[in-house]
Amino acid sequence: MIAYQDLKRVTSRHQEELQAAVRQVIDSGRYLQGQAVERFENHYADYIGTRHCVSCASGLDALTLILRAYKETGILREGDEVIVPANTYIASILSITENLLKPILVEPSLLTYEIDDTKIEEAITERTRAVMIVHLYGRNSFTPKIAEICRRHHLKLIEDNAQAHGCEFEGRKTGSLGDAAAHSFYPAKNLGALGDAGAVTTDDDELSSAIRALGNYGSNKKYIFPYKGRNSRMDEIQAAVLDVKLRYLDDDNQNRREIAEFYLRNISNPLVHNPLPGKRDNVWHIFPARCEHRDELQEYLRRQGIETMIHYPVPPHRQECYKELGILRLPITEKIHREEISIPVYPCLDRQEYTYIAEKINEFET
Ligand SMILES: *Cc1c(COP(=O)(O)O)cnc(C)c1O
Repeated sequence: MIAYQDLKRVTSRHQEELQAAVRQVIDSGRYLQGQAVERFENHYADYIGTRHCVSCASGLDALTLILRAYKETGILREGDEVIVPANTYIASILSITENLLKPILVEPSLLTYEIDDTKIEEAITERTRAVMIVHLYGRNSFTPKIAEICRRHHLKLIEDNAQAHGCEFEGRKTGSLGDAAAHSFYPAKNLGALGDAGAVTTDDDELSSAIRALGNYGSNKKYIFPYKGRNSRMDEIQAAVLDVKLRYLDDDNQNRREIAEFYLRNISNPLVHNPLPGKRDNVWHIFPARCEHRDELQEYLRRQGIETMIHYPVPPHRQECYKELGILRLPITEKIHREEISIPVYPCLDRQEYTYIAEKINEFET
């Protein structure tokens, strides 16, 4: 069976370096708020190109802390509206409702799967205070038009960069294009830890300091609590692991690009629609093909020994927890959820494997 993503294979390439890095943490006797976290935060801020990187416990926490910090600093108030793509992973939307803000779902473009920037302006009301864009599947979703709309309407632009570490728009990294960005280092992401971890990147000094306090019980100074905070920190072991893996991120992304480009050149089955290529603006976290006979295709590939995934089977507005959004009609989002099938595209997949995958997809018929 060709696994959708074999993390053991991905990790074992750096076995010795990872073991040395983890051993150093173990021997240091310091497991939280130490040098490994500080080092990774500095390296990651440099990599993304922002003044600050504040690490935290997960990608969902990174998103939630950004919005919470905007509330604490008076920029957002309970009930304010945040525009977000309807076809995102549910975590983007959870961070909004967790903060008692209102998610306003906007349809994506069927060509790019990213938020349709021609539909943002009509979603703006007098309660709108922010736009959250999601660089879904590893592809940049920022456009100059979105930045212009945010400037004109005085909206904060937040990036969910959980799926796009290393992705670029005109030479700048996603995660540095808006006012603040959330990153997830969930093990299966392009830059993955060996457990949960996340971070916020921003150039905003006040926001960065509020987020750092909020993730540390609300305190920036021992036993002084300006905020009612929470505990959301990246531990030293994950930081040491991420610092090693960050060195290989660009190579891994290049590897993903080569596999994706092979699929784009070689998958020619008219029943299967491939995503648009993109150039440097795609780090292929996911290769999201579409097929009207998606479930049949998935079952057929399973019989051929190829594991695939679906990102995602049920859109957020159709979930039980978001009954209040269930009245929305979002035909493009629903079509994507009905037809999407993710083809293996992780680094380490060898040429023989991805050649076989493309061949089998081409042989699929109904
Ligand atoms: C993975 C993911 C998150 C959540 O990150 P965690 O670290 O798993 O909490 C948020 N948004 C998107 C788009 C994601 O893919």
